[in-house]
Amino acid sequence: MPSAKRRNEDFDYKMKNIVILGSTGSVGKQVLEVIRAHPNTYKVIGLAAKNEASELVSQIKEFKPKAVVIGDGEESIKEKLAPKPLIFSGQESLKKLVAYPWVDDVVVAIPGTIALEATLKAIQQKKRIFLATKEILVSAGPLIKKFLKKYKGELLPLDSEHSAIFQCLQGEDKTTIKRIILTCSGGPFRKWKKTDLGEVKKEQVLSHPVWKMGPKISVDSATLINKGFEVLEAHYLFGLPLEKIKVLVHPEGIIHSMVEFRDGSVKALLSKPDMKLPIQYALFYPKRPSSPWECLDLTKVKSLSFQKPDTKTFPCLAYAYSAGKIGGTMPAALTFSDEIAVEMFLEDKIKFLDIPKIIKKILKEHLPISNPNLKEILGVKDWVKNQLK
Ligand code: MG
Repeated sequence: MPSAKRRNEDFDYKMKNIVILGSTGSVGKQVLEVIRAHPNTYKVIGLAAKNEASELVSQIKEFKPKAVVIGDGEESIKEKLAPKPLIFSGQESLKKLVAYPWVDDVVVAIPGTIALEATLKAIQQKKRIFLATKEILVSAGPLIKKFLKKYKGELLPLDSEHSAIFQCLQGEDKTTIKRIILTCSGGPFRKWKKTDLGEVKKEQVLSHPVWKMGPKISVDSATLINKGFEVLEAHYLFGLPLEKIKVLVHPEGIIHSMVEFRDGSVKALLSKPDMKLPIQYALFYPKRPSSPWECLDLTKVKSLSFQKPDTKTFPCLAYAYSAGKIGGTMPAALTFSDEIAVEMFLEDKIKFLDIPKIIKKILKEHLPISNPNLKEILGVKDWVKNQLK
């Protein structure tokens, strides 16, 4: 295997300063792994985490960032560090962290919509965004796009499906796209019927067959709303109507998505299901350095299978399409109702099948505001909270 230094000689790279929002989560940790494998390309200048203090402390010791934001437990980590970086707590501090003049790139990988304002701030400050958090684009897609246009910003997807589509579209004329096909593992309950899902346990929901992820996204994958979010994310990212975005269940998780063109040709991106690959692609785009991770061996995979998604058992995928068609604040109501319902499920307050019920109820009751501003989008969260009290 080539050494890390050798790999880094694949190309000339101007060292950049990066901030990672959500550094102790699954994506955040894998971003750091990619950076470790390519020394002298990125300086980790800022980190933000919710409260995983011991993991955050070891990241601070290794990467020596200038500034750190922690959701809570500020004092507990300050005690453990010398010399100290700047340490802040609270959501407002995320905006401060991304806006520092010495920041070039920002990874957004905090689940939910906590980092929405910080993302807008970062775009405004002309930072390049690497987006993993799908709720941000889903709840505020048109607003994010408006900001990107106004501030001539750049946003690259870290999600495996969107990275696959982005890669398949390199060198292509978008007007020749017939449809894009997002692949979906089907989640842990792919072969289950609705009647069997009533009593599923939290541990079953959290054990995804293909990807190792945090609790929020694992629950979202089990209800298939994660794929619904990805449909809406693709709609905003690639500027395609929802009718041209399809979902195909592909349990092996080898094809990460496909693009079908008007001549009938289909381009697909295949690799081992490893988030470090789309992360590395975005971090070094438009260059493609080599990587030290295991490559795909199709003789070991043997076969690739495909099925239509079961929206009767997993209605959240259909709810996402309907919310997207209505637009305005409806997709925000979708994400906020899911955010709160998943929280309630993880706290054992509701059952698995209550999640789609809650989302359906909120979407039915919500009167959407068209072309919402940030305040109106965030206002939906308070409204949803009130409805679910
Ligand atoms: Mg995905």
